[in-house]
Amino acid sequence: MSGSLFVISGPSGAGKGTLVQRLVERVPHTWVSISATTRAPRTGEVDGVHYRFMTPEEFERTIEEGGFAEWANVHSHYYGTPTGPIIEHLEAGDNVLLEIDVQGGFQVREKFPDAKLLFIAPPSMEVLEQRLRGRGTDSDEEIAKRLRNAKGELEASKDYDVVVVNDDLEEATDKLAEVLES
Ligand code: ADP
Ligand code: 5GP
Repeated sequence: MSGSLFVISGPSGAGKGTLVQRLVERVPHTWVSISATTRAPRTGEVDGVHYRFMTPEEFERTIEEGGFAEWANVHSHYYGTPTGPIIEHLEAGDNVLLEIDVQGGFQVREKFPDAKLLFIAPPSMEVLEQRLRGRGTDSDEEIAKRLRNAKGELEASKDYDVVVVNDDLEEATDKLAEVLES
């Protein structure tokens, strides 16, 4: 396999989705894995584009069939990375990005020891909350759950290979692009 595998983790609202989009536009041959999830689609999310939306039964069947490179329960929903497409893109020589939580990140490190684990941190918890509210996609209850979960994620960042604080978007993009291209 000639491509490189990168895990991108960080608390919800830190800016992972925004940064990943910018990396795809900036760095040639960069491909983002489409995760499976049992959470409901948000307004504007399309099955097969943003996520593969599955029922819990479908997700559990895929686990039993060994179809996930990693999976985890995040914010009370299942999320997982389908194995087939990431192998295909690594074989094609692409940079493969997995935007997944830290539990998933550590599973990937076990299976793919060459994977680089990148962590996106918010400048502060206050800014994280502002970004989650400003995004306007989650209920107050969902936001509270995500902020509680953020503390555990930030704790795990010490075992990641690279930590990038997403304060200035341009600077954070530059740092990540440098890692992908190195
Ligand atoms: P995540 O994918 O980590 O949950 P998003 O990429 O959805 O986070 O970003 C959360 C919100 O913060 C979005 O509204 C996004 O536009 C905004 N955002 C991301 N990065 C920055 C930044 N560096 N400065 C200000 N706002 C940002
Ligand atoms: P959201 O519901 O906001 O799209 O994602 C919530 C969290 O689930 C994020 O922290 C994201 O990184 C994580 N996540 C998304 N896809 C996967 C996946 O395939 N595996 C794991 N372990 N986490 C994922």
